[in-house]
Amino acid sequence: MDRALIATRVVAHFAETRRDLPWRATRDPYAIWVSEIMLQQTRVATVIPYWQRWMAKFPTVRALADAPLDDVLAAWAGLGYYSRARNLWSGARAVADRGLPTRASELRGVPGIGPYTAGAIASIAFGERAPLVDGNVARVLARVFAVTDDIKSTAGQRALWAHAGEVMAALPAAAAPGDLNQGLMELGATVCSPSAPRCLLCPLTTLCKTRGDELPIVAPRKRAHELPLLAREALWIERGGEVVLARREPQGLFGGLWELPQGDGAARALGVTVEREPVAIHEQTLAHRRLRIAVFRAGWPRALDASRLPGYDAITPVPIARARELGVAAATTAILTKYEDIPWSSIPRRSNSSPRATPRSSKASRSSASTPRTPTSPKPRRAPRKASTSSSTTRRR
Ligand code: SF4
Repeated sequence: MDRALIATRVVAHFAETRRDLPWRATRDPYAIWVSEIMLQQTRVATVIPYWQRWMAKFPTVRALADAPLDDVLAAWAGLGYYSRARNLWSGARAVADRGLPTRASELRGVPGIGPYTAGAIASIAFGERAPLVDGNVARVLARVFAVTDDIKSTAGQRALWAHAGEVMAALPAAAAPGDLNQGLMELGATVCSPSAPRCLLCPLTTLCKTRGDELPIVAPRKRAHELPLLAREALWIERGGEVVLARREPQGLFGGLWELPQGDGAARALGVTVEREPVAIHEQTLAHRRLRIAVFRAGWPRALDASRLPGYDAITPVPIARARELGVAAATTAILTKYEDIPWSSIPRRSNSSPRATPRSSKASRSSASTPRTPTSPKPRRAPRKASTSSSTTRRR
């Protein structure tokens, strides 16, 4: 197959049809880096305002590196997959003094920059002939070259990166490597779509081996009910319009984010009494697991001491109306929203509330985590109520 012709046609098609996106108006490697990280898992239309606000708030690598992680996560709030923001911040701190490397091979050594992002920065900002493969490019190349391995498998990825490298190597000298990479991504995003490729409009239609015929091969994703359940219990500690939030330690799931204090040891560490029944249950489907958070009201602690709270490095009361100004996880946002709709502070405290150290025993927690239930149940130990969507918060009335 004529790789040079593929490269030439992709670049020409990109020149004719390229969308006017704000990060395409710059060769600033930092701005491109930010855009590429934001675009992972997120649609272009969603990213645009976030990228613009981000670049206004953190216009340089140094500005990002010097910002507190709280500010960074707050600026990311709503985009999800917060590990991207943490990694971006870590990467900025690692290169703030020397600047971003210019070669893809060196960029891969920066925290949070993988082979795809390295290829994008190196080719677009620095003109290196560095190939890349993302989901869109994988689909185009799998169809053009008839790659029959699962495109997420090791063999499939190896084949796709090899083809991407061959096409990049065949790019005529006068053409820009960044235009080839962006052209392949654009082709996948706008023409070679997953379910209905528009082959008649495609510049590669006479070169493509499959023309979308049942490729690419992608291993089926697990359905929501097949994902492992992560069951958690959170404390709703409220007084005078403020709610207590705690910040997770930087590493691990939801690291650096603020949330209602969670975990078997949280109530004991804070020395608070907890109601026996939850006031709300939030359920959400994450990428690789289901999350269920039962929210229990708890008394106000004598002291807010994060050092005694396992897994957290800060704890503070926050006006409920301003809680979202911190970097909070989507689950916390959903719980706050439900609370603001109909505050459960108006629900009388139950007579069977009694002082105890933890909302439920660890044994009960394990049972909850392993016992399948209907998607939504306001009170987990009673009859289920109506089903919910994959991301929902319910409240005991
Ligand atoms: S010809 Fe069709 S299947 Fe092949 S790359 Fe173009 S749009 Fe995709």
